[in-house]
Amino acid sequence: MTQMSTFAAPDVALPDGRLYVAGEWERGTGAEITSVFPADGSINRVLKGASRADGERAIARAKAAQADPAWRGLKPHERARHLYAIADGIEANADRIAAIQTRDTGKTLRETGALAASAAATFRYFGAVLETSDEDLTTRRGDALTLSVHEPLGLVAAITPWNSPIASDAQKVAPALAAGNAVLLKPASWSPLVSLELARIVDEAGLPKGLFSVLPGAGREIGNLLVEHPDIAKVSFTGGTETGRRIARQAAEKLMPVSLELGGKSPTIVCADADLDLALAGVLFGIFSSTGQSCIAGSRLFVERPVYDAFVSRLVAATKALKVGHPHDPATQVAPLVHLDHRAEVADHVARALAEGAKLLCGGGAPEGELYENGSYYLPTILARVTNADRICRDEVFGPVLVVMPFEDEDDLIALANDNDYGLACGIYSRDFPKSWRLGRAINAGTIWVNTYKQFSISAPFGGEKDSGMGREKGRQGIRAYMAQKSFYVDVSGTPLPWAAAQVMT
Ligand code: NDP
Repeated sequence: MTQMSTFAAPDVALPDGRLYVAGEWERGTGAEITSVFPADGSINRVLKGASRADGERAIARAKAAQADPAWRGLKPHERARHLYAIADGIEANADRIAAIQTRDTGKTLRETGALAASAAATFRYFGAVLETSDEDLTTRRGDALTLSVHEPLGLVAAITPWNSPIASDAQKVAPALAAGNAVLLKPASWSPLVSLELARIVDEAGLPKGLFSVLPGAGREIGNLLVEHPDIAKVSFTGGTETGRRIARQAAEKLMPVSLELGGKSPTIVCADADLDLALAGVLFGIFSSTGQSCIAGSRLFVERPVYDAFVSRLVAATKALKVGHPHDPATQVAPLVHLDHRAEVADHVARALAEGAKLLCGGGAPEGELYENGSYYLPTILARVTNADRICRDEVFGPVLVVMPFEDEDDLIALANDNDYGLACGIYSRDFPKSWRLGRAINAGTIWVNTYKQFSISAPFGGEKDSGMGREKGRQGIRAYMAQKSFYVDVSGTPLPWAAAQVMT
């Protein structure tokens, strides 16, 4: 592992810390938030987050803007133009967005550049979906034309985590705006800046004022207000399972729809017949890219017994060779974790696993050297001699920590893979496609990757089962999650309704 390398830090002005309150730039009046650069612990910005009063002001303005015929009355192709303009703005500012997100989260510039590109694609895709989604003429079963139309819900709250803010923001904001709603976005307190940059782009793209807000602030204050407020018609949440459960309980009280994208402990499976080079590259990327801070991280590895020893020894060697480095260094593969507090949590998981009998194959601590001194770096870590019932195999670590276990046969494997509270994703490496298909159908997960991992397309619906959440984002139907369906019966007989007629069309 090399320690120092030369690289240039991008020279960008960070957002000045004002909030975007329904189209107006205002200083927050809530609790202070500090954005830190995880590579060296330097402070990016200290800002005042949104208070309840700020949130209530944003909601009132958003309500008026959403009801305005200037927005509500737009035809789909007219509204789509706003989404295309935002996509253009993101593309034009991609380097800035990448640099700001790297400052906020510590992710490599290569990764944040890809996330910016994906955010632009998301706005473009939902503009196109909006323009090309037909309303439904439903089959006639009586003397009425029956059709089904889709209307905006009203005000949508989007609550996002810190790990991939621009991408998770876009995944919610784009379909919700396309559907004709106003959106109030609450980013995570560790990563407020890139969402404020998105607000600048949306503002410059000419979205009518009031329709979009970015309200960084404490989850328990501003997040909670958005969930409970009677004018908020839907919450789209990505984050931890316990927060999601709490939001679902509050939503039940209001009878409000929610979509919840939550945590994971995803199994990756290497069968004895797999192309082992391909599997090795996929397993490494699946767990250690984004420094493991990914809901879909392939964090539980099952290797078929005949190839277990050989595969694990190659995996450990390849893991030790990964370049742990500064996020501005183009050669870096594993960047720092988001925050020192988060590193402490990751370290606790590993320490507990070791105390419970796990065997450390590599990693297990912070790297040493001048470069790493003030950053929140953690070495890619592999633990063996664990059972699927151990806490380290059940809890989401959300860091670069992989557990490895052998499996004997398909039945054994399916039982192990499914014996977990989560059900977000799964990777299968095998040359036998019918076997991959059988396994993929039997394993509880919202996404199955075969001979690849962590590849994403905006056109493929995404979401989890069990404790990984409910609802699906992305895909053509993603826009419908932000709409209310309304059915029309339009009489075509022109005759008065006889009193005795059956009220049910058979
Ligand atoms: P949290 O659940 O702690 O936070 C997520 C968001 O919710 C933040 O904006 C947070 O604000 C806010 N929040 C916290 N408490 C409340 C509350 N009471 N009411 C309303 N909002 C609240 O998760 P993390 O930020 O730690 O994110 C990591 C988690 O996200 C992991 O479990 C990961 O698996 C999951 N995730 C899931 C993805 C998926 O698509 N399935 C994708 C990415 C991550 P604040 O920051 O101010 O606390």
